[in-house]
Amino acid sequence: MVDVKAVHKSFGTLEVLRGIDLEVRAGEVTVVLGPSGSGKSTLLRTINHLEKVDSGWISVDGALVGYRSSGDKLYELREREVLKQRTQIGFVFQNFNLFPHLTVLENIAEAPLSALGRPRKETLDNARRLLDRVGLADKADAYPKQLSGGQQQRVAIARALALEPKLLLFDEPTSALDPELVGEVLDVIKDLALQGTTMIVVTHEIGFAREVADTVVFMDEGRIVEQGAPGDVLDAPRHERTKAFLSKVL
Ligand code: ADP
Ligand code: MG
Repeated sequence: MVDVKAVHKSFGTLEVLRGIDLEVRAGEVTVVLGPSGSGKSTLLRTINHLEKVDSGWISVDGALVGYRSSGDKLYELREREVLKQRTQIGFVFQNFNLFPHLTVLENIAEAPLSALGRPRKETLDNARRLLDRVGLADKADAYPKQLSGGQQQRVAIARALALEPKLLLFDEPTSALDPELVGEVLDVIKDLALQGTTMIVVTHEIGFAREVADTVVFMDEGRIVEQGAPGDVLDAPRHERTKAFLSKVL
């Protein structure tokens, strides 16, 4: 589903991604771990084309991200085509990023209505179904600020699902939450995993990684240092830097 090949990305003189290779199979959950500043968010953002790569390439479900090939030439996609491609990839941020002036239901329905031009009744019905799925059927008419952080993040997940994405990216989805609210959000993500959603999840929640991940990836200083089954990477890490990181977060 996702194929990242030899991706490099710098900001000025700072090389943030130093040759990333990563494959994610359809229906699998990849958890990305690593210290702050190791390039995890930048990696997710390149997969969604929120950042352009300097070299290498990325494809999602067989389509190059941000480019189109014709013969042996590559053409950059236009803004509109990029936006369309982006609708196939759901992104859930650390800070929810809900629209404060829209109700919960409107937040979920906004993109299908405006970006995809879907019919109104069907979109609202679907938004209600998604709200039910994240356990918030009774909050349809509330505004984001009336909800707890955990509830807001569950709305953000429902909003990402509303576009029926092929791939879901989560960037530290529970880092901004009070500890007692982390579980309800992880439970929703776990549920999506059980239903076969393809996901890349950046998180420091090791218990979640152990339980839900098919593959755990450890990044440090712009490189993938180690990757494999959770039992291998988490319980028998081979690299010193992985060991040092895990000894701090476990
Ligand atoms: P992580 O998510 O692992 O904490 P990031 O991908 O956010 O790491 O950042 C990696 C490095 O790139 C950091 O040093 C960060 O300051 C830098 N960085 C990220 N985005 C930008 C940007 N838009 N401009 C300049 N530097 C950036
Ligand atoms: Mg980050």
